[in-house]
Amino acid sequence: MSKTVTRFAPSPTGHLHIGGARTALFAWLLARRNDGRFVLRIEDTDRQRSTQEYTDAILESMKWLGMDWDGELVYQSERFDLYNGYIDQLLDEGKAYWCDCTPEQVDAMREKAMKEKRKPKYDGSCREKNIGPGENRVVRFKAPLEGRTSFTDMIKGPISVENAEMDDMILRRSDGSPTYNLAVVVDDHTMEVTEVLRGDDHVNNTPRQIQLYKALGWDVPRFGHVPMILGPDKKKLSKRHGALSVMEYQKMGYLPEAVVNYLVRLGWSHGDQEIFSREELVKLFNTESLGNSPSVFDTKKLDWVNSEYIKAKTPADLVSGMRSFLPEDVEAEDAYLEKMIPLLQPRATTFKEMADMADFFLVSAEVLEYDEKAVAKVFKPEALEILKELTARIEADAEFSHDSLEAICKGFLEEKELKFKAIGQPVRLALCGRTQSPGGLYDLMLVLGKDETLARLKRAAALV
Ligand code: GLU
Repeated sequence: MSKTVTRFAPSPTGHLHIGGARTALFAWLLARRNDGRFVLRIEDTDRQRSTQEYTDAILESMKWLGMDWDGELVYQSERFDLYNGYIDQLLDEGKAYWCDCTPEQVDAMREKAMKEKRKPKYDGSCREKNIGPGENRVVRFKAPLEGRTSFTDMIKGPISVENAEMDDMILRRSDGSPTYNLAVVVDDHTMEVTEVLRGDDHVNNTPRQIQLYKALGWDVPRFGHVPMILGPDKKKLSKRHGALSVMEYQKMGYLPEAVVNYLVRLGWSHGDQEIFSREELVKLFNTESLGNSPSVFDTKKLDWVNSEYIKAKTPADLVSGMRSFLPEDVEAEDAYLEKMIPLLQPRATTFKEMADMADFFLVSAEVLEYDEKAVAKVFKPEALEILKELTARIEADAEFSHDSLEAICKGFLEEKELKFKAIGQPVRLALCGRTQSPGGLYDLMLVLGKDETLARLKRAAALV
């Protein structure tokens, strides 16, 4: 059996959106699963709409998601000679012909067919005319008139189309440029692609492409057409519901591994397992378990998956991701971030949330901002006494450990016959500037360190 070769063939007319990224992931996984090759082709034949900027953005997204490709990147714009060579071959073999029908004439043919309740199509006027090249002439494929073109889609199952339904498609436009169907067939064949996985907006092109494979005497690859991703309203995915470029998810603070995991599960399943490492995905992926109905994008689920990844990482693994969301003037050392991350992990959904939650850790006692409402409510005169007393006891604590801090606070509460709340609120407010923050009191103090803890308790006492 020949080696599996899959491909991703984006048109650089926009950013890589999550739908395209998911299709690419399926193709990437299929190749990696079978120890095959995954090739990447930039379909930039539309010179008007294709830009290098979009190509770069697509490559950046592929890299961010960890989809490496094999061999050189292929640009369709550099392969016109190759395409034209095969078009000439088809002409020589009588499997293609020149056509001088004007677009207006072809429109009229289509309208006529529609009036007669037939499928609108080019009527084959020039099939047997034997005209040669000339200005404003296109090359058309001499498609079979009888029989059927059938294939078994890896996702949709058997598909069969009457050949009579398909017209003689254009292979070379009047400006000399090859059309999509011709270029894709030549590329997929010459790049030795064995499995074509792509969006199901292309499913109608496949029978035409199969006819071309046959005309060129080439093996037909297997095809799989991936259903769309819909928004929660079951309509086409809109920006509001997640139809964003992949890099927007990086900007929102998602982990690439989590985005990969989420996207693969959107249309593929393995029992009811939700979280998969990259290695597991590569080991388990199969096209048989790709679903044939559209998936619905669910931001809450993505958030959940992302938070699971955050929880599962070591603090050291999360430092640089979190740092990229901190204000530029923050000078915290890695070790300090590593210390606070365990407090953030159980609560944060994204890197951005981690950074936002940690803001109070990253300023010094003198400039920590206090929530005025909370100050008015919590910092009553009794609280002042408590803060002063605790400050003195912590200052005298040489150990400054979880155990010693707990002993100090518990001892204090017992002595004064107070409930934990009596110190919980004022101390948290003193340390964090607000009454809601991640982490237990002792953990907060340990992250801040003794000097900073004391400085904050003293500043708070002065505020009362
Ligand atoms: N370039 C096409 C697109 O971006 C994909 C073509 C294909 O996969 O065959 O929609």
